[in-house]
Amino acid sequence: MEVITKETVVNKLEEKGIRPSVQRMAILRYLLEHRTHPSIDEIYNQLSEQIPTLSLTTVYNTLEQFCEKGLIKAISIDGKVIHYDGYTHVHAHFLCTKCRKVFDIDQNFEIPQAAVPEGFTVSNTEVYYTGTCKDCLTK
Ligand SMILES: [Zn+2]
Ligand SMILES: [Zn+2]
Repeated sequence: MEVITKETVVNKLEEKGIRPSVQRMAILRYLLEHRTHPSIDEIYNQLSEQIPTLSLTTVYNTLEQFCEKGLIKAISIDGKVIHYDGYTHVHAHFLCTKCRKVFDIDQNFEIPQAAVPEGFTVSNTEVYYTGTCKDCLTK
């Protein structure tokens, strides 16, 4: 787990014009510290211990706002559960079909502008792998 300072979290929110409330800061910090691509339920369950006033609706609305502002990414690799990612640089994801964990793959690739028809502009690309993770293979 990476340790993220309060200042980093505040700066990231303010850069996007979002007021750094206690709840917003806690949600963003959680996502930056845990590169496990948690679901909304995981985020809510973890944070509601620290912030008893937190509601699932607040978590939902906050995640929506963060996604809209490009602060985080929603990953739909699973087909069932949406996973949230605090890291928005271009990177690939690996879904383990046994434990359903989503891993980062820091692969350098360019957005393939040449692959789209003339006159189209690519602004984002998602690369997903599925398979079995090391832990599940050695169990
Ligand atoms: Zn696994
Ligand atoms: Zn990721």
